[in-house]
Amino acid sequence: MTLAGRTALVTGGSRGIGRAIAMALARAGAAVGINYVNDADAAADTVREIDEAGGSAVAVRTDVRDTEAVAKMVAEVRAALGPVGILVNNAGVLRDKPITFMSDQEWDDVVDINLRGAFTCIKAVGRDMMRARYGRIINISSAAGITGDAMRASYVAAKAGMIGLTKAAAREFATSGVTANAIAPGVIETDMIKALSDAKRAALLERVPLGHFGEPDDVARAAIFLASDRSGYITGQVLSVDGGMVM
Ligand code: NAP
Repeated sequence: MTLAGRTALVTGGSRGIGRAIAMALARAGAAVGINYVNDADAAADTVREIDEAGGSAVAVRTDVRDTEAVAKMVAEVRAALGPVGILVNNAGVLRDKPITFMSDQEWDDVVDINLRGAFTCIKAVGRDMMRARYGRIINISSAAGITGDAMRASYVAAKAGMIGLTKAAAREFATSGVTANAIAPGVIETDMIKALSDAKRAALLERVPLGHFGEPDDVARAAIFLASDRSGYITGQVLSVDGGMVM
């Protein structure tokens, strides 16, 4: 139980990668705040499963774009489980569109949820982490944020931005006992990639040296390492979990 006594907040913790990370954090002994925005049933399921396994968790409905609501969410988690020491910025959306057809609103939605949402959450937990002289910030970026990808300019820009944000936070918090790292998953089997055409899946698979897509638990295991004391001397880094797509 390497994370016993810690409190974590996982944005988008109701489904997919966020859910796997929340479950793994709970298994490691952390109390976990599960953020979601739409799917209350999925969030409640995740909380129930953690409870049944003897852990503790609360679900909080908040749009991570909303600075005030995020501050309230962090206060709610603090009141229920204690100050957040581990923040996993995982909430994200992907919308495929060619640049020349993408509306300003479509651009803003993707950049705001992925990138601005990570900023609002870091801002909301930063003081508690600095006060405690302990913190782990883990931003879920993407291989696409490193290599680029056609038809996904908003997503690629947001995920590349998250890498910049990670490095800025790592430098800014370095003397306060707070580390910030990013994970760059490749293709992971979740709802997010269900919309991909067979042709796109096949093209992506060709780029994976290990020959198969990843599972949410592959990302969760990396997140647990970055959340633990074992990664205490690692900050400002991007850890690829992608079957070798980016090397
Ligand atoms: P997913 O299954 O679609 O789940 C997305 C999660 O984000 C859900 O919990 C959703 O909440 C939450 N969310 C969406 N908009 C939100 C908002 N405005 N405020 C708060 N929560 C919000 O996605 P996933 O595949 O697990 O992806 C998780 C992260 O990994 C994302 O950042 C994604 O970009 C990144 N990633 C995924 C892949 C992949 O292949 N799957 C690859 C690289 C990176 P609700 O349940 O309430 O809708």
